[in-house]
Amino acid sequence: MAIPSLVPLTVAPIPSLSDDINKIRLDTAKIVSEHIIPNEDKLTTPASDDERQALIHDLQSYVKDSNLWAPHLPKEYGGMGIGFLGHAYMNEILAWSPYSNYIFGVQAPTSGNQSVLIKYGTDYQKKEFLEPTIRGEQTSAFSMTEPDNAGSDPRSIQTKAVKDGDEWVINGRKWFTSNGTNATWALVMCRTEEEDGEGGVNDRMTQIIVPTNTPGFNIERSVPVWGHTGGSHCEIVYKDVRVPLQNQVGSRGSGHAAAQDRLGAGRVYHCMNSVGQMWRAFDLMVKRAAERKVHGGMLEDKQFTQAAIADSYIDIQASRLMTLHCAEVIESGADPRTEISAIKIFVPNAMHRVVDRAIQIHGAMGVSGDTPLAGMYLGARTLRLADGPDEVHRILIAKNVFKRYHAGLSWDFGVL
Ligand SMILES: Cc1cc2nc3c(=O)[nH]c(=O)nc-3n(C[C@H](O)[C@H](O)[C@H](O)COP(=O)(O)OP(=O)(O)OC[C@H]3O[C@@H](n4cnc5c(N)ncnc54)[C@H](O)[C@@H]3O)c2cc1C
Repeated sequence: MAIPSLVPLTVAPIPSLSDDINKIRLDTAKIVSEHIIPNEDKLTTPASDDERQALIHDLQSYVKDSNLWAPHLPKEYGGMGIGFLGHAYMNEILAWSPYSNYIFGVQAPTSGNQSVLIKYGTDYQKKEFLEPTIRGEQTSAFSMTEPDNAGSDPRSIQTKAVKDGDEWVINGRKWFTSNGTNATWALVMCRTEEEDGEGGVNDRMTQIIVPTNTPGFNIERSVPVWGHTGGSHCEIVYKDVRVPLQNQVGSRGSGHAAAQDRLGAGRVYHCMNSVGQMWRAFDLMVKRAAERKVHGGMLEDKQFTQAAIADSYIDIQASRLMTLHCAEVIESGADPRTEISAIKIFVPNAMHRVVDRAIQIHGAMGVSGDTPLAGMYLGARTLRLADGPDEVHRILIAKNVFKRYHAGLSWDFGVL
């Protein structure tokens, strides 16, 4: 059945934005609402795999011809080169459909790995691993979290890499390595140093590229997530995995800093993505309320429904403005850590509330596969854990607040 929507979702130019960013927003909205959303059925349940591949190829070609390919990459790497804020605004629109990111060439975790290699990679790594992912010939995974150690404190990881001649030898166990089954290579977070460096225990980790066909890279299982058994969040045993020293990314001990770089920017993209999904959920709930008759009247005339619509509008606008503010802080060069933690807590929780209300208004249809709401709901709940659980970010905000207070600094409203 067709996925209902008030299609076409549209955007208007924002006066305070540059013409370039406004054009990107409008062009993106046109492709997502007129070409991707109407094809969601075919992308979800195609008549054949060939039909799906052909459709994806056509849509990707259209995106490339429209100069909207790979918004996260600089121009010299074949991307749009639109900077952080431009990408954030674009992500809000991409998220209207769960298929957009792939069709616009910005698919996690490979997009995050690409950014790490652009910043930390050697010429050899760029040629062998980065460029093939940009051309779509390779895909990748990020392998940090371990079943036996706290992912919320990545400094605790125990997977070890030991130097032996001109090779790194890696041993350990990881899980929740997303895209593990499809990846050509994984960026693996390893403990390489026995002693703390200048940055303390943070300096003990190094990221190393491991091609997934290396002997000893053993996928034990794909961890079922929300009852879904066919995913690719893999549990992987690294058993005497040998890779050349030239696969080490950045200097020894730089692994934690590189992960924070990746996750900091990633959290803003995730939040703008959540805002876009909230708009889609909102659009669906408004349409349903405006068309559904219950107990002798329209759903939209019931005050419980009106409260759900109003509270959702408030949640979306608050999330959107907080996230854009955070993106502006990053773009300005100021320290964004408090803002990043604040949106990382607020936005997934707001999305959880908005999608929950949208599901309630849809009744049974809300939990069916006939709308994207069920997937959004599980995604919102997952986001409260992935990229750092709420508690860790609360602690970080409070630490920054007290640090500022004890240093006798004034409150610069908006940037701590
Ligand atoms: C769908 C999915 C995909 C993922 N993809 C990847 C991936 O591609 N690569 C990768 O490396 N990882 C991935 N992860 C892992 C994710 O990053 C971790 O799950 C996350 O960092 C939390 O780590 P943990 O699960 O070990 O929880 P733990 O660290 O064990 O924490 C458990 C709970 O303890 C509580 N807690 C933690 N610290 C504190 C504290 N200081 N005070 C109070 N309470 C606290 C929180 O409620 C937290 O949820 C993925 C996870 C999911 C669910």
